[in-house]
Amino acid sequence: MAEPALLVGLRRLEDSMLAALEDLVMTETPSDDLGRMHSGIRLLGGLVNRLLGETPETVVVEGRPHLRLRGSGDRPVLVLCHLDTVWPAGTTGRWPFAVVDGRAIGPGVFDMKAGLVQALYAISALSRPDDVTLLVTTDEEIGSPTGQALVEHEARRSRAVLVPEPSAAGALKTARKGISMYRLHVQGRAAHAGLEPERGVNALVELAQQVSRLASLGHASVGTTVTPTTATAGTTSNTVPASAEVAIDVRATTRAEQERVHAKLADLAPSIDGAVLRLEGGINRPPFESSASSGLMVLAARCAAELGLAPLGGASVGGGSDGNFTAALGVPTLDGLGAVGDNAHAEGEYTLTAAMPERAALLCTLIDHLKEPDHEAEDR
Ligand SMILES: [Zn+2]
Repeated sequence: MAEPALLVGLRRLEDSMLAALEDLVMTETPSDDLGRMHSGIRLLGGLVNRLLGETPETVVVEGRPHLRLRGSGDRPVLVLCHLDTVWPAGTTGRWPFAVVDGRAIGPGVFDMKAGLVQALYAISALSRPDDVTLLVTTDEEIGSPTGQALVEHEARRSRAVLVPEPSAAGALKTARKGISMYRLHVQGRAAHAGLEPERGVNALVELAQQVSRLASLGHASVGTTVTPTTATAGTTSNTVPASAEVAIDVRATTRAEQERVHAKLADLAPSIDGAVLRLEGGINRPPFESSASSGLMVLAARCAAELGLAPLGGASVGGGSDGNFTAALGVPTLDGLGAVGDNAHAEGEYTLTAAMPERAALLCTLIDHLKEPDHEAEDR
């Protein structure tokens, strides 16, 4: 079968996609660096302007810029991206963008700057690009403290949400676990460890007991994990520690499980006389359940076949994204439509360059089909 004109056209643009990707990667955008983020958003705004012929808005929330280009149509399709990366400023100094053996490498290439570039080219290839809202947030990697409300607001007025986050070895992401983040503090009482340890209340000993309790709250058979991650205690090696704390990462596939663990953590009681517990944090992202993606996944598989691409798989994953928020609102959401590559958040993340035009064509075709009125009822 001859390749469809859309795919042929996008393949011709592969070099220009890579040039855009290089610019985005070399303009570093760590989540917590607002100065660099403003520069990144300016660069991206220029790219949007050049490719789509429109000037996007910069929406500033608590000093943090996000980029939005609103569709003019009624109930547009929302294409949801993030510009921030987990890489600290200066990473490109030792690890600059490069293309080696069909792989583009560099910090943030896979998660998710290649997906962002693919989205821009997909939208530019649409017959009616004004039916799409593009939202690019800048705090996804740190739990979206300022982006969440914006994401939810745009999702509510959209017919579907497509998220070009990295794929899972090529598979789209049809479900994601919900995430809760906590810190458990223990307050004890300091005392000299040699002279009068009996006057102290050992916060570390208390914490150790709590850690074994909370670690048992997981429920592996339904995908609930409760993982103590980082911990600190005490001040010097000869003092009974007056304080200790542990960070806890909780993942669950259903809201009910997320709430069960939350209630149990809130109920933890000290076992040593005089120790006081304090729990901070809570549910961050709700689960993205597969019911939100099933209609869109069927449509995406059909689009891949139309384009002559390899059959598409769907994967359920443990990591969250801003798609969790939109799926939880009941808006049809499909995730993992971005880069094909590997090693998200890890040294050596990469994206396959030949897949960039293919996934851009897939996203473009998917949006086009979603704009046909008959798909709306089916996918709701
Ligand atoms: Zn991401």
